[in-house]
Amino acid sequence: MGKLNGRTALVTGSSRGIGRAIAVGLAREGVLVAVHYAHNEGAAQETVELVEKDGGQAFTVQAPLGVPGDVDQLFQGLEDGLKEHAGKITLDILVNNAGETLPGGSAPEEVTAEQFDQLFAVNAKAPFFITQRALGLMPDRGRVINISSGTTRVAIPSQAPYAMTKGALEQLSRHFARHLAPREITVNTVAPGITDNGSEIFKIPEVVQQMSQLSAFKRIGEPKEVADVVVFLATDEARWITGAFIDATGGSLLG
Ligand code: NAP
Repeated sequence: MGKLNGRTALVTGSSRGIGRAIAVGLAREGVLVAVHYAHNEGAAQETVELVEKDGGQAFTVQAPLGVPGDVDQLFQGLEDGLKEHAGKITLDILVNNAGETLPGGSAPEEVTAEQFDQLFAVNAKAPFFITQRALGLMPDRGRVINISSGTTRVAIPSQAPYAMTKGALEQLSRHFARHLAPREITVNTVAPGITDNGSEIFKIPEVVQQMSQLSAFKRIGEPKEVADVVVFLATDEARWITGAFIDATGGSLLG
């Protein structure tokens, strides 16, 4: 028996990285998971296969975020999938995980208005309207978990606009937590530090060595280490936590 048997979740950006680990972790506790992705259908399907190998249930939903009609497309796929796999359109858990950075970083002087708008559209605007739409499907005692970043607490100038979007996302948690408390829906932020999402940079030993120094544990995080925190927040044991910022950076913010 999982701790979350019979519940449903949407994890945005769960074809890869941290989102995939969250999808797998929730499914292990009995959740039917909607595995959302933008373009990487094969990777999303792999997440579903990982879940099924564990005896869990998941289905894919495609919707590029940050473009007109994104939320409509997402919820069309989500609602169809829930109807097919759960027999009802109820969403107990929403994890706003999908996010983009400035690839390779960019000096603030060089950031373009297009890059800035894209980051805000995907990392801040989309989670707001996804949450707004999800609330119509969410019963009392639901869960909203927003994936921020340690960059809202330390200065990394080459990722300034990215950090600004995550600061906005953290405000979503705070204000929606107050708004949704009468329904006992909790809304929290989890902030990962540097986490191996499988991308090429994590295959370069010198870079990994350098990045490892940021954490108090002197290593980079694994997606499951962030996912475990998210799964905990989704359980009934976490019912008294709302509006919180949870540092899941492996002590990168200790100074
Ligand atoms: P990742 O491996 O880069 O995967 C990103 C996921 O988001 C993929 O599923 C991708 O779908 C989806 N996605 C990206 N852009 C999208 C868009 N415009 N529309 C819809 N889906 C989109 O991500 P990650 O590194 O695991 O990061 C997950 C979250 O943690 C992000 O919010 C990130 O900011 C945050 N975070 C990560 C780290 C880290 O070191 N990894 C550190 C701090 C915070 P496709 O596969 O289809 O492209």
